[in-house]
Amino acid sequence: MSIRADFPILDSSINGKKLCYLDSAATSQKPLCVIDSMYDFLKNHNATVRRGVYDLTSQATKSFDQAREKVRAFINAKSTNEIIITKGTTEAINLIAQSFCGALKGNLRLSSTQATNNSPLRVAPDQEVEILISGLEHHANIVPWQINAQKIGATLKVIPVLDNGELDQKAYRQLISSGKVRILALSHISNALGTINPIKEMIEIAHQNSVPVLIDGAQGITHSPVDVQDLSADFYVFSGHKLYGPTGVGILYGKEALLNALPPYHGGGEMIDRVSFNETSFGDLPFKFEAGTPPIAELIGLGAAIDYINSIGMKRIIEIEKSLHDYCLSKLTEIEGLRIIGTAQHKASISSFVFDDIEAFDIGTMLNQHGIAIRTGHHCTQPLMQRFKVSGTSRVSIAFYNNEEDIDRFITALKSVVKMFR
Ligand code: PMP
Repeated sequence: MSIRADFPILDSSINGKKLCYLDSAATSQKPLCVIDSMYDFLKNHNATVRRGVYDLTSQATKSFDQAREKVRAFINAKSTNEIIITKGTTEAINLIAQSFCGALKGNLRLSSTQATNNSPLRVAPDQEVEILISGLEHHANIVPWQINAQKIGATLKVIPVLDNGELDQKAYRQLISSGKVRILALSHISNALGTINPIKEMIEIAHQNSVPVLIDGAQGITHSPVDVQDLSADFYVFSGHKLYGPTGVGILYGKEALLNALPPYHGGGEMIDRVSFNETSFGDLPFKFEAGTPPIAELIGLGAAIDYINSIGMKRIIEIEKSLHDYCLSKLTEIEGLRIIGTAQHKASISSFVFDDIEAFDIGTMLNQHGIAIRTGHHCTQPLMQRFKVSGTSRVSIAFYNNEEDIDRFITALKSVVKMFR
């Protein structure tokens, strides 16, 4: 059976044409096994988790715990205590930004003798605090840090982007060694340009400077094998919906010692040990960060997506995507006046391009008439667009369920759109 047959939506039609879906960086399509697993849970096994004594809730809890274990194994975390279930990448980053900055603020109020020895949260009372991000970041990895930096009087510093869309490593080494940086928040793979950042090396450098690192893996998790222990990432976050799973569920991986040292984010049911009107003691990991009823069917769907990916193999997925990406890029560069934004040496199957004389919006709208779905605009990376002096780009993002026919249809349609505008 071909991979495409696993994705029923690829058989559908848009504007009388077979769907050609080239926007997987925005959200991936779902294999039938993911849809079926959620349908089966909701139809036959639905109950809440970790509450009640009846069979249905015990079964739901078991399926939920099994899915958490699948996530743990997928990224090779040491323990399921390190796997926090969130709504998505955005919530996971907000969680860490708020909790981490909250902890720093608490310590800033202490005198230097009181300040805990729990590096990296230790900070002297009068010490300047910097939070380091990169110029490639999605708004989800900018705004939460900005909001929380303002609350504690910290400064947001940015690693500059070179003309080819790679990060300026020389500037990074200078910025990270200022002695003021308390955390680095960095994307694994840029959603707008496809640049694959050398995160392992960058984490190592950060650690040499005693700086913990949060990796935004929203794109990285789909285009690269991820081993959080090998990377030594302190936090690695991603969304289920980019990994062929459903929306509404995401993962925050964090090293256990760090998660234990951080205060909770949301308060509510399920994250507590004891509650009285005077005070509350919090539950153990991972529940401390999981207030409220979690996304149960969604996590089970994500577990099914991980089983599916494992059955194909990440190596094969990457090979298919690379070959389609190279093919697409070679065809794109033949088109007169088309400029690729982001020509990094290491790129995932994401290409952004612009024309001086045709708006991205017009290209996207016209391609839709051909049944072709691409993303146009700023891709939630406005500072990056400003860096390249464009208001937006057209972005093609390829998944392993695409094929050469998709690329041929896209290129033919793009050429006809270009012809119309000239
Ligand atoms: N970071 C990156 C690199 C992304 O591509 C995205 C989604 N486009 C996000 C963060 C935010 O993910 P979500 O909307 O699923 O929370």
